[in-house]
Amino acid sequence: MEECKWTVLYVEDNQLNMALVHHIFKRNLPSVLLLKAETAELGLQIAREALPDLIILDIGLPGLNGYEALEILQQDQATCHIPVLATSAFAQSSDIEKARKKGFAEYITKPFQVKAFTETVKRLLYGEDLQKI
Ligand SMILES: [Mg+2]
Repeated sequence: MEECKWTVLYVEDNQLNMALVHHIFKRNLPSVLLLKAETAELGLQIAREALPDLIILDIGLPGLNGYEALEILQQDQATCHIPVLATSAFAQSSDIEKARKKGFAEYITKPFQVKAFTETVKRLLYGEDLQKI
């Protein structure tokens, strides 16, 4: 088994999206350990404990939403440096602009396009130097 070099936390309440992303990581990002949470509250707890290299955060969540969760991550010294990728079905350019202003590293609209999703995750994890992959 390949050693896990990176850890990504995915916070998502939709089971189908969770299953799809699980599959994408298994197939396209085998050296990444994928942690999962169905609520922002659980996601915040895992983020503080595991300190993942990247957090993929759904905007529409029960309880705290993605924006509220991002704010908490940003206020915590332990997690404020972790890049956070927003995902949402809201695809208006104003939504994307709002997300960037709030401090999300990137914004991906649902339904996911597998190739674009994979490339965005790789870029946020490894930076521009794709030779390292
Ligand atoms: Mg949702």
